[in-house]
Amino acid sequence: MLTKIIAEELVHKIKNEIEDAENIVVVTHVGPDGDAMGAALGLWHFLMTENKSTKVIVPSPPPNFLMWMPGAEHILIYRYAESQQEADELIANADLIFAVDFNAANRLSGMADVVIASKARKVMIDHHLNPENFVNITISHPNISSTSELIFRLICRMGYFHKINLACAECIYTGMMTDTGGFTYNSNHEEIYTIIYELIKLGIDKDKIYQNVYSTYSADRMRLMGYCLYQKMKVYPEYQAALITLTKDELQQFNYDNGDAEGFVNIPLSIKGIIFSVFMREDPDKIKVSLRSEGTFPTNKFAAEFFGGGGHLNASGGESYTTLEEAVKIFEEGLPLYKEFLS
Ligand code: 5GP
Ligand code: MN
Repeated sequence: MLTKIIAEELVHKIKNEIEDAENIVVVTHVGPDGDAMGAALGLWHFLMTENKSTKVIVPSPPPNFLMWMPGAEHILIYRYAESQQEADELIANADLIFAVDFNAANRLSGMADVVIASKARKVMIDHHLNPENFVNITISHPNISSTSELIFRLICRMGYFHKINLACAECIYTGMMTDTGGFTYNSNHEEIYTIIYELIKLGIDKDKIYQNVYSTYSADRMRLMGYCLYQKMKVYPEYQAALITLTKDELQQFNYDNGDAEGFVNIPLSIKGIIFSVFMREDPDKIKVSLRSEGTFPTNKFAAEFFGGGGHLNASGGESYTTLEEAVKIFEEGLPLYKEFLS
């Protein structure tokens, strides 16, 4: 059986909150990834069995490779003007808001103010360090590798394992799989596999889910990846680091679509000796920075210090409101300051 990592008192509180609520909204961080979508939709499928009026609202669109997820067609995307009024009303009139897979209100981007202003009771379910206090109930377990796993644990602890249907199980598995790179990092905890065992018994086709997520790329994306590795990857052997950058023009040249650059940041880590990898993408309004590492190199500290971001030790992100050249300079000047963390 699974260890009871979520405090009994919190499980009871949340069970009561769900029972008392009629209108429930589930929100995720901007740029929802597999875990954000898995946790939100997994929870949504469960809440639907409870006959609650429930909506998943995300600040910005998920990548295309997640749109097969059961329930994804029903989510509201706040950044789309046609969804905003409906989303504002749902958030304002909600009795209960679940904030999943993020630890700070600013990760809600343009949705932050409405969520904070809502009179709804708020519950955070997350696995990032240092949760901020913008909710009534906080479930925060940074040592658990995905929020989707926490959703599974929470549903079970509330006594509702029997309500986990196939769609719910598929979403939870997707989140667990994507936040561990297909169980290649942060994935040594044996109970992960107890949960997978249960999910498979519920009928998930884990091989199919892997294909849905990792084998549905466009030819444009593959060419963009090739271009990045051949032309755009800079290696800094003395700092065991690598950097890939993409400008607006380059993205356009490869018909960039949402999510096309997902995973590029991980690739340089497979070079022998490279333990820190950074990817920068020039968006219309900012530079999006993604950081990854192996071992104990603290990407979240680096992200916080130089790019106003944060995240996990080995996977974090941030933003820069400079030019791409300046962001690169900031990165390069940061490297010597982090030499102490190299292996
Ligand atoms: P990604 O590079 O895939 O966008 O993000 C990796 C992880 O870094 C996310 O799961 C999240 O924990 C964190 N992260 C990404 N962007 C930001 C950001 O702007 N601020 C903070 N605090 N964390 C971020
Ligand atoms: Mn996550």
